[in-house]
Amino acid sequence: MSSIYQCEKCNKEYVFWNGIGFAYPTKYMEVVEGIRSGKMGDELKQLLLDNPKGVFDISKHVYYCSKCHAWYEDMSLDFYLPKESHEDEETLVAPWDLDHDRYRLVRKNRHICKKCGNKRTRCLTLDPCGPFSKETSLSGIDLRCSCGGRIRKTQNAIFID
Ligand SMILES: [Zn+2]
Ligand SMILES: [Zn+2]
Repeated sequence: MSSIYQCEKCNKEYVFWNGIGFAYPTKYMEVVEGIRSGKMGDELKQLLLDNPKGVFDISKHVYYCSKCHAWYEDMSLDFYLPKESHEDEETLVAPWDLDHDRYRLVRKNRHICKKCGNKRTRCLTLDPCGPFSKETSLSGIDLRCSCGGRIRKTQNAIFID
């Protein structure tokens, strides 16, 4: 279930979706293929080559720059390794299994603001998935619509998959 957000000024609706649905396995393979082929940069490619058992978190979040208020949706691409006792498990793991005692985070992917280059954008979880994922409250966050109005959460929700 996904919440609907709306611009206070022009009423434009925004639905932020984590991207995890029935097509997850296919999507995951696509992303990993892309990383392996070097399409997502040398660093991620090398990371996967060095750690073939590693797992990427491909859930989508909103990355928000507190400096210039620009924001965009992107995949987390944080990288996890299974702990030794779980090394034989499959490498296709849903994001909600990652924050567990079975996996440890080895590399947090850095999301740089595309507008001002601020290296520390804030990751907003607006469509949480799994028991460890908590929705970020927008209070204190100045999320803006392209018209300049403020984006707020509405009471409405929709189902997507
Ligand atoms: Zn607007
Ligand atoms: Zn910025």
